[in-house]
Amino acid sequence: MFGNLFEEEESEGFSSASPKERAAKGTDEPPPPRGRSLLCGIKNQGGTCYLNSLLQTLLFTPEFREELFRLGPQELGCLEDKDKPEAKVRVIPLQLQRLFTRLLLVNQQSASTTDLTDSFGWNSSQGTNQQDVQELNRILFSALEHSLVGTSGSTFIHRLYHGTIVNSIVCKECGNISQRQEDFLDLTVCVCGVSSLEEALWNMFVEEEMFEGTNLYCCARCDRLVTAAKSAKLKKLPPFMTMSLLRFSFDFSKLERYKETGRYSFPLTINLRPFCEQTDGEDMDFTYDLFSVIIHKGGCYGGHYHAYIKDIDELGRWEPPDEDCKPKTQMKIKEVKEVCEPKLQEDDPLSLLTTIISQESPKSVLIDQLGQKLMDKIGSSWSKKFRKQYGPIGKFLQSHSDVFMLVSNGTRVALKANPPSPATECPAPAEKTTEPTAADSGTSAREQEIKPEGSHWFDLNDSTVTSIRESDIEKQFQGKESAYMLFYRKTQLFRPSEARNNPLYKVPSQLIQMAQDENIQLQQKREQFEASNNTVELQLHLAPFYRLDNGALQPISTEPSGITALSFDRRKTVGDLRFTIYQMQELWEGDMALTVAKSLPAGLHLYNTLTADDVSLYSVGIHTNSDLFVWNGREVYGATVQTGAEWEPVLLTVVRPFLGEDFEREAQNGVECKQSECE
Ligand SMILES: [Zn+2]
Repeated sequence: MFGNLFEEEESEGFSSASPKERAAKGTDEPPPPRGRSLLCGIKNQGGTCYLNSLLQTLLFTPEFREELFRLGPQELGCLEDKDKPEAKVRVIPLQLQRLFTRLLLVNQQSASTTDLTDSFGWNSSQGTNQQDVQELNRILFSALEHSLVGTSGSTFIHRLYHGTIVNSIVCKECGNISQRQEDFLDLTVCVCGVSSLEEALWNMFVEEEMFEGTNLYCCARCDRLVTAAKSAKLKKLPPFMTMSLLRFSFDFSKLERYKETGRYSFPLTINLRPFCEQTDGEDMDFTYDLFSVIIHKGGCYGGHYHAYIKDIDELGRWEPPDEDCKPKTQMKIKEVKEVCEPKLQEDDPLSLLTTIISQESPKSVLIDQLGQKLMDKIGSSWSKKFRKQYGPIGKFLQSHSDVFMLVSNGTRVALKANPPSPATECPAPAEKTTEPTAADSGTSAREQEIKPEGSHWFDLNDSTVTSIRESDIEKQFQGKESAYMLFYRKTQLFRPSEARNNPLYKVPSQLIQMAQDENIQLQQKREQFEASNNTVELQLHLAPFYRLDNGALQPISTEPSGITALSFDRRKTVGDLRFTIYQMQELWEGDMALTVAKSLPAGLHLYNTLTADDVSLYSVGIHTNSDLFVWNGREVYGATVQTGAEWEPVLLTVVRPFLGEDFEREAQNGVECKQSECE
């Protein structure tokens, strides 16, 4: 019944070229190089877009990528030995390493996953479209863990993704607590009946479920049915939190599946402290940043997946999307100013700080400059004016986490575009003693210039990779096309500066070598293809085989010995061509002019002579099947040849009435029936 649940819609047509187009282009066409984003897509092997979205998410999880690359051939074996019975070759991690290397380093528009899916034992007959991406995430992790048993990588999935939930039931009679722990690699969260991720987490980890009335709990200590409260809390938070949204539900009254398309918002940064069992510690220990959103487009009986991913190490080239231009942005800022200025109330710190931040470009302020900005605005410092009533400025910002958010590793403060509605607001942290550290020294000038909007988000859609704005993520809150899996990473996870802009970072040397070899091969293929695509077929007409007759060049002999065919690369120059012809015509003496010729009904006529020796044939307009007359540029057997369109000979056919035998004889002596002459 659900067999075809996640098959792709045929009509979507996401492959870059139809089979017809591919056939027309020829099968030996080398893959195109990377596009403007400089990031590599993944080919759709037919219903594998869900796999592609997940693989790209894992690639752009630098910690996952580096754990995988850390495993050398001494632990994984070599793919070359995989058919040797005695060799232990761990094919899945090896193929994943290769795929990641190609995605990072090989200059092609998209990479293939065929080798990887083969290593999973998924062949085309079995089809890879039976799984759902949430299920696939678990299958992939489990296959990888299984494949890494006995290596130093056997625990890395666990270290990066494993978390625990503690479920408790508290007896209201004796206070006995019964606890059960639950493991997770990803958290499945409700969509039905809630409007945001925070609300879903609130229902899961803050709300208590009561056993009361007719639904009582059997307490082991009391040994009878009692009133009790059931609750769940996050116990161990992993470095990476993956949220699987339950977008697909089953309607039991209609006995059919349906997709929840209602609005479901999720934040770019989330503090999980309210949902944890243990709430002591720094805010940073509980804070996570969104870095990937896998999106499902379509209904529940088919669809397409793609992913919005944050390129944390800035490996790609992010450019503002086309529809966005500078004047528009400036207008936006102006609008904000106009809206905010009249509202300015000097005694309201919330209004003041909001105004200051909204008037900044790039809409965020370094935390340690906020005091100065305030000073500039109202002529008084925070300490003097507000500290007594509101406490330190950092504490004030934190207690209004629905309005403010920290960006750039907590060094800057920005405004939350959409503050959560009061109904779904998370409780403020119990203890707010920490002030944001004003450590700006670690922030480079470049980092400060980057607008929060432009923080390297890309839409990875099979072969296509395009820059998007962070604000585009909101478009995936609801609808037929909406977020399906969310990937968060702990804010405090540190990325070394050497990793930035450096796709080679931590890639083992043997894999770099593989990528270099593949790049050389690709380059050669492209050059060969280019050359074959640029080969023009030329017909060379050699002057010694022609004579000028009635204004047109006529071959002396009926045999076409005066015509020589030549294949030539049109990117080469006129000089190259002349040199080649000289070499072919060993007996040629004196000047050689190459003149574009054309066969007209009256004979061969000459047009422009190719004089610029350093210009390519392409630039002078030589295409395939061009005729060139090879001569001395002046005369043919003593007859001066006029060139150019104005000297084109015309063929006149004279038709006249029959005038009788005598007249005919006279006429034939005077005019020929077919006559060529100059105009
Ligand atoms: Zn009890």
